Amino acid sequence: MTKVRERPEWIDGFLFLGNQLALDFLNTRPIQNGEAQELLPDFTALLRWFRAAELLSPREMAHLQQHWEESACARRTLEEMREFREELRKEVVRWEAGGNVHRAIIEKLNALLAAHPMLTSLKQTENGHRMDLSFETRKPEDFFAPLAYSAAKLFAEVDHTRVRKCGQCALHFLDTSKKGTRRWCSMRLCGNRLKVAAYAARKRLGAE
Ligand SMILES: [Zn+2]
Repeated sequence: MTKVRERPEWIDGFLFLGNQLALDFLNTRPIQNGEAQELLPDFTALLRWFRAAELLSPREMAHLQQHWEESACARRTLEEMREFREELRKEVVRWEAGGNVHRAIIEKLNALLAAHPMLTSLKQTENGHRMDLSFETRKPEDFFAPLAYSAAKLFAEVDHTRVRKCGQCALHFLDTSKKGTRRWCSMRLCGNRLKVAAYAARKRLGAE
């Protein structure tokens, strides 16, 4: 699931700079200018995020949108997903700081993994075979599958010291740099802002 190739930071109005799906999901509620922004205000936005994350094809997205957009089940699922996101955020913040993952979230993840499993299949490629992961999209709740899977993978397989919150904003990311010294969500969003601020401060000090 972890994609090696470079992706743009913004796709269809969503941020993809976490290097990990569960972290990108947390980043669907960024803090900008001190205020939280909900990037998943409705079920269509959620489908668009899944599309942007390359978990759905454009055709699948259009089909599901037509079927579910106004359904009570879709609305409920969206609410549950946003709740899950905030629970997960609290847990990731603790875990990043070296804390243990709470038993409650482990149980929650296990319940989600059991109810909405990822499906594995073997695919033929040009020069061999590869394993593919997919998930059912029969009902809105199925969309928990890749999120629960990715969150479980995060806690199980990722070095917590490599996961951190941007020094400037609330965005989370997995630091995949060689030296492991990434401090900002992105140079463009926060890195430059900090550099400009530091430069201005130095100039001010120099002038005094
Ligand atoms: Zn930032």
